[in-house]
Amino acid sequence: MRVILLGPPGAGKGTQARMLSDLAGVPQVASGDLLRAAVQKKTPLGREVADILARGDLVGDETVVKLIEDRLDGPDAARGFILDGFPRSVPQAELLDGMLTRRGIRIDRALAVMVPDGEIVKRISGRRTCRNCQTMYNVALEPPRQPGVCEKCGGELYQREDDSEQTVQHRLDVYNASTKPLLEYYSRAGILSRIDGMGTPTDVEKRMVGALDGLVPKERGGSAR
Ligand SMILES: [Zn+2]
Repeated sequence: MRVILLGPPGAGKGTQARMLSDLAGVPQVASGDLLRAAVQKKTPLGREVADILARGDLVGDETVVKLIEDRLDGPDAARGFILDGFPRSVPQAELLDGMLTRRGIRIDRALAVMVPDGEIVKRISGRRTCRNCQTMYNVALEPPRQPGVCEKCGGELYQREDDSEQTVQHRLDVYNASTKPLLEYYSRAGILSRIDGMGTPTDVEKRMVGALDGLVPKERGGSAR
């Protein structure tokens, strides 16, 4: 089961990837985690990445694809993987396809979690963080008992700059601009499934499993992580 998970920030993609990973017994491969792990482990590629980041440059798509390819050599990825965070554009998708084709494999499904912009803005701009212990709340979804006050330590809750409505809308605009062509790319390949991302995580998981008909084993695959 080789799956790509697409979705805007705040769509709950990380949670969904973990749930699917547990269900199918294949690892979640998150490009951000791969970069951090490579730098930490000081692998040859990791040292390269650390140099690039130290110069203040962006890590190139080829490097990310190389990291993903290394990860796919892991024995736990033999039965498949759930790719999360990559690709984010058509050129990245083409690089990824090239690498997979060389290995004689291909993506079975691209699942796009669809959540209206207005809902994403509501979810993220409702976040509040405790200045003292960093516990997170959501004024819309899980409000603290006393407004503006942390339940754990009594600290002051504030809205991070990243979570402001304006910043979220900007991130969504950037996401939408590069993702639309990406969805068309996978649609043309005949492997795109659009998943309604509204409702509880369990609701969304059920829709995903439905879209992966036959790819997810009937019984839990066990611990892939
Ligand atoms: Zn606190």
